[in-house]
Amino acid sequence: MNLHLLRGHDLRPPSRSTSVTPVAVPETPNSSQNGTTAEPVRKKALAFPVGPETREFYRRFYPDATKTEWNDWRWQLRTRVRTLAELDRIFVLSDDERSAVGHHSGSLPVGITPYYASLMGREDANEPLRRTHVMVGEEYVRLPGEEDDPLSEDHDTVVPGLVHRYPDRVLFLTTGTCSTYCRYCTRSRLVGNPGGEYQFNVRNWDKAFDYLEQHKEVRDVLLSGGDPLTIGDDKLDYLLGRLRRIKHIEFVRIGTKAPVVMPQRVTKDLVKMLKKHHPLWMSIHFTHPTELTPEVTESTARLADAGIPLGSQTVLLKDINDNAATMKTLVHGLLKRRVKPYYLYQCDPIKGSGHFRTSVDAGIEIIRSLRGHTTGYATPMFVIDAPGGGGKILMAPDSVVGRDGDDLLIRNFEGKVYRYPDPQGTLGRETVPLAAE
Ligand code: SF4
Repeated sequence: MNLHLLRGHDLRPPSRSTSVTPVAVPETPNSSQNGTTAEPVRKKALAFPVGPETREFYRRFYPDATKTEWNDWRWQLRTRVRTLAELDRIFVLSDDERSAVGHHSGSLPVGITPYYASLMGREDANEPLRRTHVMVGEEYVRLPGEEDDPLSEDHDTVVPGLVHRYPDRVLFLTTGTCSTYCRYCTRSRLVGNPGGEYQFNVRNWDKAFDYLEQHKEVRDVLLSGGDPLTIGDDKLDYLLGRLRRIKHIEFVRIGTKAPVVMPQRVTKDLVKMLKKHHPLWMSIHFTHPTELTPEVTESTARLADAGIPLGSQTVLLKDINDNAATMKTLVHGLLKRRVKPYYLYQCDPIKGSGHFRTSVDAGIEIIRSLRGHTTGYATPMFVIDAPGGGGKILMAPDSVVGRDGDDLLIRNFEGKVYRYPDPQGTLGRETVPLAAE
């Protein structure tokens, strides 16, 4: 066993792609370990890689940015693409995109980190990642069944930013800021609106801490938002430490997209701080295999090496990731990066999301194409978060065919039916028995 890895002195994973040359730049001017001057080899080990296409992009569109700036998450956040003019500078916009962006006001603005923009199709308006972040006219069409708050989170909000729906766990909305704004966001009503969204402030956090101290049934806190990793290390450290001091809270999770859209956020200082607050888990929002870059290999490796169990959350999106081949490439790539594909979500019916939503059948078919056909760890749970606050409901291909006397008849991944002796069981009684093969 490699003890220096265990001590966290080298955050790089054991093996790397050799096709990408890391840019040998420290993340920050003070990135040396333990306050000592790092030797050249050490600096190289801590450098963040820059993929070849991304490097070409940033030299073309951000020629004045230094490598240090590009690899600084604060620069990425500050320099987000926010306006029609900035979009126009980088992308060949369609008339529809230009008009939709021009008409936008309120929450969920355009916001794309330069790094994430580098992964998008510049000329193709139908490129998957671009579709998820650049608005189009369909976003202004509200279809029947669509709501501003489809999961009724506001109804279950007990103090500002704290949603208590399930008995033993809460959702803690830490901030209204994200590093990028996804056009299908469930919290589109809350995020990115400088005029009225839920904003970080210590007073609100204090109300949440008071509530949590009084509610001893809460053992699990999910930090979300907005994106908690847009908060600086010191405030995040305070928040986690404060939660850790509440004895009945056993478990804290962070829901984030930052390691994917702003992987530079995963600095050695961040992981060092997070390690103090175990048990800490992380759910990372992935959408498409294009996101599996050398930068993301690095950010997930740093988190995994810090002992943080990683799971993915993916929203099923029409003509973006709603086919078996794309999803299989994604889940295999996640496993290679030590991220367990955890949830595949049916897209929530927020207003203006009709062009993103598939039929539920499409999700079931994807699960059918994965289960049994590939590693069990690679198959996420396909869920619908029930509109109206019903919580997550697992959707799965039917495996129970029926019952024949004492035998339960069950279907395998190839569609073949088998018998399982189950004399005390009742499952399958109500279905019409079929002959087993
Ligand atoms: S990162 Fe998450 S919270 Fe932020 S816009 Fe995307 S889906 Fe919404």
